[in-house]
Amino acid sequence: MAEKITMGPDGRLQVPDEPIIPFIEGDGTGVDIWPAAKSVMDAAVAKHGLRIAWKEVLAGEKAFNQTGSWLPDETLSTFREYLIGIKGPLTTPIGGGFRSLNVALRQLLDLYVCLRPVRWFQGVPSPVKRPELVDMVIFRENTEDIYAGLELEEGTPEAAKLIEILREQYGWDIRKDSGVGIKPISETASKRLVRAAVQYAVDHGRKSVTLVHKGNIQKFTEGAFRKWGYEVTREEFADVAVGWDDCGGKPGDKVLVKDNIADITLQQVLTRPEDFDVIATTNLNGDYLSDAIAAQVGGIGIAPGANINYVTGHGIFEATHGTAPKYAGQDKVNPGSVLLSGVLMLEHLGWQAAADDIVRAMEQTIADKVVTYDFARQMEGAKEVKTSEFASAIVERL
Ligand code: NAP
Repeated sequence: MAEKITMGPDGRLQVPDEPIIPFIEGDGTGVDIWPAAKSVMDAAVAKHGLRIAWKEVLAGEKAFNQTGSWLPDETLSTFREYLIGIKGPLTTPIGGGFRSLNVALRQLLDLYVCLRPVRWFQGVPSPVKRPELVDMVIFRENTEDIYAGLELEEGTPEAAKLIEILREQYGWDIRKDSGVGIKPISETASKRLVRAAVQYAVDHGRKSVTLVHKGNIQKFTEGAFRKWGYEVTREEFADVAVGWDDCGGKPGDKVLVKDNIADITLQQVLTRPEDFDVIATTNLNGDYLSDAIAAQVGGIGIAPGANINYVTGHGIFEATHGTAPKYAGQDKVNPGSVLLSGVLMLEHLGWQAAADDIVRAMEQTIADKVVTYDFARQMEGAKEVKTSEFASAIVERL
């Protein structure tokens, strides 16, 4: 019988054998990649005697055409009620009252972690020599930093007033023709982000958590993030994790929590990827890092992601690319990103065996050089197939 996923008294998800999971098909290429990804997930879980009761909810263009709203209240209340959901890409409405539907969903459900695992899958074309060394899990803070949207436009009375207050009260000399943005970094948001990252490292047998920041320059925002990260490690994880300074870099069998400046990190993830395992970072750094690292292992067509609140249990798993409108409806693009987001979701639900089966079958399909256009153009001797054919090829290899 189809049932809701709930939050147990131990703060862990309680997942029935047939959970009801809301999904947003997505705009543009969503019509191609969603059915393909769903067919693979359904086949994989069925092998293990499980089933997902999919429940469609609307957002984006489909919602606007049917209801006049880009993000209907019912969609939000359904995600609230059923805790875990998955979505394809959404068009960012221009002049629709939202900066972005994705940002709106994250803020309304307070999904404070943007989770981006980045690893190489056998056979995927890569621009680096040793892509197999890339196996990182990025925890990007999702609710504050410059993404809080606290910006005033150059030339407005509001910007002029703020510049004046800052000059009078703090003696800050800001050019009058400046736009001004505010970057809040709080102890609350930093600690809950690092807490989730360290807990993940402990639960998944990971070796280290690197706090990535620009604390050398932005001392009271980025530097404070670093300080709070070490504090939460010391205060809450002393038996299973240890900060670099507290162990001289020798953690024994505990998870090592260390830190790195953002700019050198962007270099080192390329030159020595094996030094990075779980990464915990602020919003903007995380934005740059996740795309840069994803590029090493095959890029946008297959990078999975999720936005999670580990306290309430809410999580929305999502394709990380956009709607690629020029390919919409052509059964052409790679369904890998939404499919691997589904794999991440199955792992999150504790359905590891089904998740592993999909990864194995997908690797086998790529190793057999049966791929969509994006990989075919980078591989010699590849057989280019449609979105739906790629999915069928994976199902055959499950
Ligand atoms: P995009 O849709 O991600 O497309 C950029 C390029 O990425 C495509 O032209 C294509 O490259 C490649 N690509 C995207 N999806 C792919 C797939 N499934 N398989 C293989 N390659 C894929 O970015 P955009 O054109 O900047 O944005 C279009 C719309 O999507 C905008 O409305 C934007 O706001 C929105 N958007 C939504 C999300 C989201 O919902 N999470 C994220 C980003 C953007 P080639 O041209 O090289 O083939």
